[in-house]
Amino acid sequence: MALIVHKYGGTSMGSTERIRNVAKRVAKWARAGHQMVVVPSAMSGETNRLLGLAKELAPAKTNDAYGRELDMLAATGEQASSALLAIALQAEGLQAVSYAGWQVPIKTDSAYTKARIESIDDQRVRADLAAGKVVIITGFQGIDSLGHITTLGRGGSDTSAVAVAAALKAAECLIYTDVDGVYTTDPRIVPEARRLHTVSFEEMLEMASMGSKVLQIRSVEFAGKYKVPLRVLSSFTPWDIDLNEEAKSGTLITFEEDEHMEQAVVSGIAFNRDEAKISILGVPDKPGIAYQILGAVADANVEVDVIIQNIAKDGKTDFSFTVNRNDYAKTIDLLKDKVLPTLGAAEVQGDTKICKVSIVGIGMRSHVGIASKMFRSLSEEGINIQMISTSEIKTSVVIDEKYMELAVRALHKAFDLDQAAA
Ligand code: ASP
Ligand code: MG
Repeated sequence: MALIVHKYGGTSMGSTERIRNVAKRVAKWARAGHQMVVVPSAMSGETNRLLGLAKELAPAKTNDAYGRELDMLAATGEQASSALLAIALQAEGLQAVSYAGWQVPIKTDSAYTKARIESIDDQRVRADLAAGKVVIITGFQGIDSLGHITTLGRGGSDTSAVAVAAALKAAECLIYTDVDGVYTTDPRIVPEARRLHTVSFEEMLEMASMGSKVLQIRSVEFAGKYKVPLRVLSSFTPWDIDLNEEAKSGTLITFEEDEHMEQAVVSGIAFNRDEAKISILGVPDKPGIAYQILGAVADANVEVDVIIQNIAKDGKTDFSFTVNRNDYAKTIDLLKDKVLPTLGAAEVQGDTKICKVSIVGIGMRSHVGIASKMFRSLSEEGINIQMISTSEIKTSVVIDEKYMELAVRALHKAFDLDQAAA
């Protein structure tokens, strides 16, 4: 008997038939004696549909007035799916109640379309659980200090679920999704990719940040910070499979390095097509330049990823970094309008046709020569590396987008990821 949080993605909630299956699965867990909190996504395609309607009326804008309305709009997707799930659970004979984020409340900051959760009030939920109800909480959203509805960014329901699990000190947070776990890489690109039974929190964080779309990165950060036991598993198994078998399936995200059973040096190959490269040419080489450029970018709430500054020649240098493609136009405008004039005689260039490919593994901490093996394997394929960045457990390269699949396949093979760990 435990307090368990389930999260269901859009595909799992994609039709009334599927919602009925979710209700039956949740009912199975509730009838086994668990206290159940469920966090659903909007029905698949719904968030895109809603945001598409907004775009039909006005092209995407980055101001707060527009962002506020996007959140007001997109939050309805999860409100609908949550109510439908409560209705389906009631039809299964359970007591169930759904809450929108603002009703809990889940408090966030005011960064529309990418708000961060600040606190969750657990009183109402605990009272309902104590009264024997299944509680459903909308994914993806909250309310800011002024009472405006906010959303947490695409894929944000994962973060909602983990945050709710943290607030309630749940025994486990199970993320039901359309893949049956975390793989060594995307099986659509490498059919030999294998499911990992466990992956460390640090690796998962790198893989999520590198664009492995299994979990939203903030959810992994949250899980790490609050030590929420997190499991990614398939929502496509029959709802009536044995509960103990279901509870052990998928991939468990572990916190102890020594719990890591599959001791491969590299655990996975991640890739990301969502970034764009921006270069500023002819920047004077003097103190404060990085701050002048990146400070302005950070002030505009744009996250910067890989950064490179070349050595100076004749007192001038080039400065390159990557940002999310969604922030690309905004960042270029900002640099041209606000930064270039004060920097003195520089030029901005951009490239959106890039991608980032990374090898990830906690084993890299204690092994040398891993990065060079990566570079060798890319050079054997004739792939030019534009930027490199490393951390303790990851090496990433920025390359031309058109070589992404080739690079991922070559690296998966070079690091023997198609072979089960010894
Ligand atoms: N419905 C939102 C989206 O599509 C949030 C989520 O599904 O996690 O991004
Ligand atoms: Mg998702």
